[in-house]
Amino acid sequence: MSVFVKPNLAGSLIRFKSRYDNFIGGEWVAPLNGQYFDVVSPVDGQVYTQVARSQKEDIELALTKAHEVREAWGSRPVAERSNCLLKIADRLEANMEQLALAETWGNGKPVRETLAADLPLAVDHFRYFAGVIRGEEGGISELDAKTLSIQMKEPIGVVGQIIPWNFPLLMAAWKIAPALAAGNCVVLKPAEQTPVTVLIFAEMIADLLPAGVLNIVNGFGLEAGQPLATSPRVGKIAFTGETNTGRLIMQYASENIKPVTLELGGKSPNIFTESVLRANDAFLDKVLEGFAMFALNQGEVCTCPSRALIQASIYDEFMERALERVKKIKLGDPLDPTTMMGAQASREQYEKILSYLDIGKAESAACLTGGKPYTNEYYPDGFYVEPTVFEGSNKMRIFQEEIFGPVVSVTKFEDEQELLEIANNTPYGLGAGLWTRDMHQAYEVARKVEAGRVWVNCYHLYPAHAAFGGYKQSGIGRESHKMMLEHYRQTKNMLVSYDQNPM
Ligand code: NAD
Repeated sequence: MSVFVKPNLAGSLIRFKSRYDNFIGGEWVAPLNGQYFDVVSPVDGQVYTQVARSQKEDIELALTKAHEVREAWGSRPVAERSNCLLKIADRLEANMEQLALAETWGNGKPVRETLAADLPLAVDHFRYFAGVIRGEEGGISELDAKTLSIQMKEPIGVVGQIIPWNFPLLMAAWKIAPALAAGNCVVLKPAEQTPVTVLIFAEMIADLLPAGVLNIVNGFGLEAGQPLATSPRVGKIAFTGETNTGRLIMQYASENIKPVTLELGGKSPNIFTESVLRANDAFLDKVLEGFAMFALNQGEVCTCPSRALIQASIYDEFMERALERVKKIKLGDPLDPTTMMGAQASREQYEKILSYLDIGKAESAACLTGGKPYTNEYYPDGFYVEPTVFEGSNKMRIFQEEIFGPVVSVTKFEDEQELLEIANNTPYGLGAGLWTRDMHQAYEVARKVEAGRVWVNCYHLYPAHAAFGGYKQSGIGRESHKMMLEHYRQTKNMLVSYDQNPM
């Protein structure tokens, strides 16, 4: 089918195939059992294509292809691997509009965001890791006059990667770029809700990589994900998804003592201290935008600032302004470049969010705005929800459980001690926001918040060169930043003696 785009992107067009196979060994390969599943666009709620429903045999085939070329790819000169990544970035950039449209159709997020964030961040990830590996140097130490200790980094070989549906292409880029940069071959399984754009991307860059270096195998978690995570031929497994699935991935990987990195769920606090209301108008606008960030990507972000903590002394005035700001969020046709909030990624997710709206009301949280589905006049069968603000207390389920939708639960704190008690009272520790004009307070509070990323006077920024990952049950390991290369390599130590005498 084809999707045309309205206003400023007039003329833009994306054509989907009626059926997609797996991308294995540089070519399209039908699933060995011949089965496919329907893929629904959340924009209009209709099936728009079918994708391979893979099983263990398909995963094994992809692993075989990857193993065939792992030596060759891993021993390529660094400059060549780096150039491959740069060419991938250029190809992505040249096709940005087409990919952004496909991502919007597959995930429901507005094209305004896919064009401004998902695609440019993906491009930058490849460029960043292309650059980082060129700048690396090894380590040698002289243990004594005749003994050298040489530290070498070697690729793991073939790695398995499993990603979620909220940022299909960007999560793929976050995983693929460092893995290839470190010299590994990849078998990646996208989420079953959003499998298409990663396939379009793989085909688009096929001529830039040796066949078999990057393989995309689609299917469901237990049918395709589990065989990938349990295979002894996978040297490492990288996973992004729910915390409960992460627990299973750790168990699977333990069967073969394989390293895992996990990027999991969150319930991030966004903290607004009283000094923000004393600031100038421009800063206050930024603060209010920071509050409204809970609706970014329809709230389907692992770091969604889904709990807002407001200092009691400014609560009433702040909330009045914050609600005004939330009401300006423009919902609508995700293909219209002025739309700010689009569709939830799947019917299942849409229904889960609606059930949390009922839970919030049932536990007597006050619904200050939103609280119901949104009827989109262009696409009445799509999965749309109004941005929703609840007021309540941190013990409520809507404060404790990851909703993964455009819902923020707001509460008050009196002082820093109470702020920290509330902020840290969660099993998660992924992100946090802190808004203040007092930089001593910023430093002290940020150090005490139990989260892997604390944004101070900003939110939802993801530069490739800043380490990202979770404390507590939000994950293990880091993504982005050059430290991530360590997750994709192993260290070889050569201890060399030049001594002619017996030891
Ligand atoms: P999910 O755990 O349901 O699925 C993620 C992936 O795992 C999918 O590809 C799925 O098919 C696969 N999977 C499911 N069960 C599996 C199994 N038993 N074995 C192997 N693979 C399996 O998560 P989701 O609903 O797709 O994504 C939303 C979650 O992802 C949220 O919790 C969100 O916070 C989290 N997330 C975290 C980050 C981060 O960086 N920390 C980023 C994005 C999303």
